Amino acid sequence: MGVLGVPLGISEGQFQVVVLQVAGLYGWELAYHTFDSRRSVAGFPDLVLVSSRRGRVLFRELKSDVGRVSVDQGVWIAGLTAGGVDAGVWRPADARSGRIVRELTA
Ligand SMILES: [Mg+2]
Repeated sequence: MGVLGVPLGISEGQFQVVVLQVAGLYGWELAYHTFDSRRSVAGFPDLVLVSSRRGRVLFRELKSDVGRVSVDQGVWIAGLTAGGVDAGVWRPADARSGRIVRELTA
């Protein structure tokens, strides 16, 4: 249950499309993504998801299965987590394992 058939080798961009679709299906009604981060502060997570019904907000950096978390991205995730925010990294492997749906439905 909740295991998503995400192909091996999927790009981060393709993965993001899947994540946004799945989040929408599970009732996460607001999703923010910076489309061009070049003039923004480095490292801010790719996605902010909001479910008012659940009273939850998720900050997630998306990576391909082989993508590396940059130093700046790690600083943001650690800082948000220390501030009490649900922040982390999602990879296609997390879709296959069911982790993403688990975290969306927790
Ligand atoms: Mg990313």
